[in-house]
Amino acid sequence: MKKIEHLGIAVKKLSVSIPVFEKILNTNCYKTETVDSEQVNTAFFAFGENKIELLEANSEASVINKFILKRGEGLHHIAFEVEDIEAEMKRLVNEGFTLLNEKPKQGADNKMVCFLHPKETNGVLIELVMEKKETK
Ligand code: ZN
Repeated sequence: MKKIEHLGIAVKKLSVSIPVFEKILNTNCYKTETVDSEQVNTAFFAFGENKIELLEANSEASVINKFILKRGEGLHHIAFEVEDIEAEMKRLVNEGFTLLNEKPKQGADNKMVCFLHPKETNGVLIELVMEKKETK
């Protein structure tokens, strides 16, 4: 693991929460993006070396909607940046962890991502992220 790449926070409405985090962080949201595979709309903030991702469900079936119904708004996941996501996935499976997706998938912000099942991570949803390398 290289570093914490971002923290993911589940919110009911980006339109409400973006201005809140713009005030807290004293910086503007630099990007909003829809991730179809997760049925979420995301908003990103960068400050110093750190990033925050806000996540809003865009359908009832979205995992974010389920999370908010169960636990309310709040911290949703911690994302760790890795050099080689496939190698890390293999290593963690060998250590006995369960992956929520067997292959790295397209995440927000030009990343390949994989989530670990929180049952083995003390209830903390962990996301592995790898910067997508430009092919040629
Ligand atoms: Zn994330």
